[in-house]
Amino acid sequence: MYDYLIVGCGFAGAVCAERLATLGKKVIICDKRPHIAGNAYDCHDAAGVLVHKYGPHIFHTQSARIFEYLSQFTEWRRYEHRVLAHVDGQLLPFPINIDTVNRLYGLHLDAAGLEDFFARRAERSGAARTSEDAVVGRIGRDLYEKFFRNYTRKQWGVDPAELDASVAARVPARTNHDDRYFTDTFQAMPLHGFTRLFERMLDHKNISIVLKTDYRDLVPEVSFRDMIYSGPIDAFFDGCYGDLPYRSLEFRFETHERERFQSGAVINYPNDHEYTRITEFKYLTGQTHPSTTVVYEHPRNSGDPYYPVPRRENAEVYARYKALADVTPHVHFVGRLATYRYYNMDQVVAQALTLIDSLESVGRTRAA
Ligand code: FAD
Ligand code: UDP
Repeated sequence: MYDYLIVGCGFAGAVCAERLATLGKKVIICDKRPHIAGNAYDCHDAAGVLVHKYGPHIFHTQSARIFEYLSQFTEWRRYEHRVLAHVDGQLLPFPINIDTVNRLYGLHLDAAGLEDFFARRAERSGAARTSEDAVVGRIGRDLYEKFFRNYTRKQWGVDPAELDASVAARVPARTNHDDRYFTDTFQAMPLHGFTRLFERMLDHKNISIVLKTDYRDLVPEVSFRDMIYSGPIDAFFDGCYGDLPYRSLEFRFETHERERFQSGAVINYPNDHEYTRITEFKYLTGQTHPSTTVVYEHPRNSGDPYYPVPRRENAEVYARYKALADVTPHVHFVGRLATYRYYNMDQVVAQALTLIDSLESVGRTRAA
């Protein structure tokens, strides 16, 4: 008899398992994949290069609480991520900063000059509802078309005018020289990789792990009191309100027998090629190896569900599933797919910790 069956061994499921086990609960956690760590899974490829099987994952957070929580399970390698965008034949810093604009247009603007440059080009039309509004309303149409429009169309299969403002708002333009991708206080990579972090998180006598198993096949086999579910919410309810769209990616890995392949960790190709970006893992992991492996990301409509698609009509369908989830007893929904949110790893960890806190306080109230 288990207290909890947890579906999904990604950050959402693994954090719940660790917290509950530490609180003395017996949990069984399953994943249909043959490994733990969900989309953060990393492993050594045939050449011995450490790669992220589901695309580049860089840890960053503003929350000391989340960083300290995860620090129980890993040491860290200091790492600040930088991205270059290939635009008009140049490799330029992205997100857009002073150097991006000066090099693109052959200018010598300072911060005040750049603010003025943006203000004169910005096309404001009320509140920024879509990703197009958000970018054009801040930096104008030319930069939007060079850096955002085509990348977004490739990545999402729809125009930025059809996506919530929050999507492009993840990479706001700056008026300084900061060329880091993230500005969070805590930015680091797990020293021995994400999978090792998960192994340590799940290494507890109260946790049983079952891989290569869909939870639907496990339910008749085990008894448990409550379920924590981190798969796609629409799949849980057999798509009764229609399928929620998820954007998928095909990852194409290439190993090269040389130390370096490209001049930075990630190069974005907004306007060329069918893929969006190329990542060279050794920059992220700090590994020393005579060969190097890169991954090309080709966006797809079908395949593993990686991205919820932030658009109003999808939020409306999700709201119907959420209402159903709220009245489904003994099942708790957590994570990027189960709550249909475009969350980073730290946000998923925070969401899982909050869920366990609330389950605990309900438990305490019942016991009192
Ligand atoms: P997942 O990791 O997807 O885990 C859910 C698990 O549930 C999966 O392993 C799945 O197999 C399992 N599952 C589903 N259905 C069933 C079922 N029926 N039975 C059994 N198991 C099931 N975040 C960052 O913070 N930084 C980054 O740099 C970053 N880069 C990213 C790059 C890409 C290409 C992608 C796709 C995401 C990136 N993210 C990044 C986001 C990050 O991957 C997620 O925030 C995080 O992995 C979500 O964790 P999760 O547990 O909610 O979901
Ligand atoms: N984006 C863009 N051009 C770029 C990089 C990002 O237009 O060169 C937009 C695009 O819509 C993308 C979003 O900004 O989906 C968020 O980018 P991020 O790098 O955060 O995406 P993720 O790493 O989650 O794929």
